[in-house]
Amino acid sequence: MRLILLGPPGAGKGTQAQRLITKHGIVQLSTGDMLRAAVAAGTPVGLRAKSIMERGELVPDEVVVAIIADRIGQSDAKRGFVLDGFPRTVPQAEALDRLLAERGLKLDAVIELKVDEGILLRRIEKRVAEMTARGETIRADDNPGVLKERLSAYRAQTAPLADYYSQKGMLKSVDGMAPIDEVTATIGRHLGPEAGSRMGPRAPQGPKSRQAWAKPRKTSKRAASRASARQKRSVAKKRKNKPGKAKSRTRRRLTRAR
Ligand code: ADP
Repeated sequence: MRLILLGPPGAGKGTQAQRLITKHGIVQLSTGDMLRAAVAAGTPVGLRAKSIMERGELVPDEVVVAIIADRIGQSDAKRGFVLDGFPRTVPQAEALDRLLAERGLKLDAVIELKVDEGILLRRIEKRVAEMTARGETIRADDNPGVLKERLSAYRAQTAPLADYYSQKGMLKSVDGMAPIDEVTATIGRHLGPEAGSRMGPRAPQGPKSRQAWAKPRKTSKRAASRASARQKRSVAKKRKNKPGKAKSRTRRRLTRAR
């Protein structure tokens, strides 16, 4: 399963992504997390992204597209992935379409978490307070000033993606203001019953093979009697070919018993 989670900062994309990866056995690909890791490691990408992220602006498209192109090709992404924070601009979405087409892959759905902007600041303040209480490091961009910038970047550059995917018939909008479990349930309904739980190996494709996969092989009465007749014929044939040996063995055994 391949999904995109769309929504402004604080909409709950990370929380829902975690639930989706557990349920479907797929991986979460968060460009924000990857960029933060690059900043922490001081890689060339990290050095380039650091100040942009601290201002709440978007990192250039080619940087994130290159990261994603590399990441979706890795073996743990073969079963599927949920993209969180990517794409964030129309050119990124177009680049993703090309990347997937080159690999013969398809997106299953784009899930948009809709929330009132008014509550986002409160949500992020709450997240900061909880992280502080746990003694965790606070994100450099999780403060009211930068959040304003992140929201305006979202409105101007990312929100148009809802139209982009809606025109392709892929957009599923979900009320992100509902309680977390309800949001999860609504997403589950949008993905349909086939995507209900973490499945084992995929059934072979095609109507015939799917039937064979679903039903254990049963032997019909006719087939069973045909098989038994075949067996009887083959035993008789063996006897006919080696009658002396069979008889003499029996005779020897009988003689010994006497
Ligand atoms: P948010 O909580 O705002 O959704 P993320 O963790 O997804 O934040 O991203 C943090 C920052 O990383 C963004 O503000 C932006 O600077 C950068 N970033 C992440 N993903 C992208 C992307 N797809 N395109 C450009 N910049 C990105």
